[in-house]
Amino acid sequence: MRRRQLAKRLFAFFAALCIMYLHYRALKEMESSFGFDRPEEAAPGLAETTENTPDTDESEPVIDEPFDVSAFEDKPPPPSPPPPRAPNPEMVSSLRIVHHDHDIVREEALEKDSPCSDLAEHCAGWASSGECAKNPAFMLERCKESCGLCGDSPAIGADETRSLDPREIGDVVLNSGHRMPLVGFGTAGLGDMTATATKWALQAGYRLVDTAQAPEWYREDLVGEAIRAFLASGGAKREELFITSKLHPRDHGAERTKAMLESSLTNLGVDYLDLFLLHYPACWGTLCGGVEPQGTWRDSWRALEELQRAGKVRSIGVSNFDVNELRELAEWARVEPAVVQRNSDVFSADKEVRQLCESKRWQYEAYSSLGSQWLMRGHRENPVLTHADVKRIARKKGKSPAQVVLRWAIQHGQIVIPRSSNRARIAENLDVAGWTLGDDDMFVLDALDGHPPFVQ
Ligand code: NAP
Repeated sequence: MRRRQLAKRLFAFFAALCIMYLHYRALKEMESSFGFDRPEEAAPGLAETTENTPDTDESEPVIDEPFDVSAFEDKPPPPSPPPPRAPNPEMVSSLRIVHHDHDIVREEALEKDSPCSDLAEHCAGWASSGECAKNPAFMLERCKESCGLCGDSPAIGADETRSLDPREIGDVVLNSGHRMPLVGFGTAGLGDMTATATKWALQAGYRLVDTAQAPEWYREDLVGEAIRAFLASGGAKREELFITSKLHPRDHGAERTKAMLESSLTNLGVDYLDLFLLHYPACWGTLCGGVEPQGTWRDSWRALEELQRAGKVRSIGVSNFDVNELRELAEWARVEPAVVQRNSDVFSADKEVRQLCESKRWQYEAYSSLGSQWLMRGHRENPVLTHADVKRIARKKGKSPAQVVLRWAIQHGQIVIPRSSNRARIAENLDVAGWTLGDDDMFVLDALDGHPPFVQ
């Protein structure tokens, strides 16, 4: 009797086990056929941050948010959504497309070029949130390209916290008598990441930082937070840094220019600027929001000359001035510009203005050397960094495409100010001294001027 009961119980136990196993199999099959992302396959803690990377957000800026000091600890930025920013033809749309562009490049790389590419769609966002350092094993497996770990990148296996001795970078002497580094850090469009990225740049060895008063693109206050913290930590002395800001065209006019210089000094926590530029010769589009400036760029230039005499700024210059405006400035300026900042890259080399600058001893400073501006002209992918000639020269030299085009610009006498939100790429972009492009490579790159690829 007892044996029969025992056998019955055993039978029931095994039957229950079988049923549980069948349920488990059925659930697994459903899961794979619906393509669910298993939670453990996502980089820990990142699901929300990646959905909200700055490139997707285009509303009004929130520029007076209190600064989060935790950004200065060595950890990724907090996963809170970034503050909204103004839609902007120059920068915001480029950011949006750049990240989209990364995905396209990555998909194509998977199919064609290289087995080394990203295998997860959110890699760019994760990388810019610092996950390459925080979760190296996961990111190495899924996000090689975004972490700069692909074969033709010099960042392979590199310590993303590496730094260069600023003296190795090189500098030029401006017509004002002051020295300006050949490579600087651009800070447009970095949003909430501005302080962290600027901190990484300073730690990597950048000593020139480019910012502006225009809240549409820049967070001058967060650049100031990074500079203050770096100086306080003993990372550099004030005189070793070269800080540039720019006057918004809505503030043209002598008195307004002087007042706005004071506001930059406060934001940046310094008592003089190394370089103050007029950002544009005039308002355009909706940039000035219907505000009628009190004066013109000419009034502002006179104010810059006074500010320089008073020691509030060491050098003065202009940005986005065309050849005619530059010639006019040359005719009546009491102090000629030390620096002219304009867009230049291999497809749009800006030769006429560069020659004018050379003849006048005005230093040419290029912005968007990595090709960001093309993304606003309808290009789906960055034509500069993906051009076959640029990639071929990069492979040959053991450098990245970004390093090749930056080096090309430097060899043409330009100062460059690349921007990146990725720590490894920030270090990579500074590493453009101590090697050269030969005449043959320069010739090939020069031939790209005026021949951008067709918009696809
Ligand atoms: P940029 O430096 O030409 O390019 C930035 C883009 O390139 C970002 O999307 C960045 O993505 C990517 N990138 C950076 N390093 C890379 C690398 N090594 N490999 C692959 N991709 C890389 O863009 P920009 O911001 O237009 O120009 C630079 C600076 O010039 C600005 O930040 C600003 O300071 C100044 N600027 C001035 C004006 C003006 O009117 N005066 C106008 C535009 C810009 P990740 O972040 O993912 O690395």
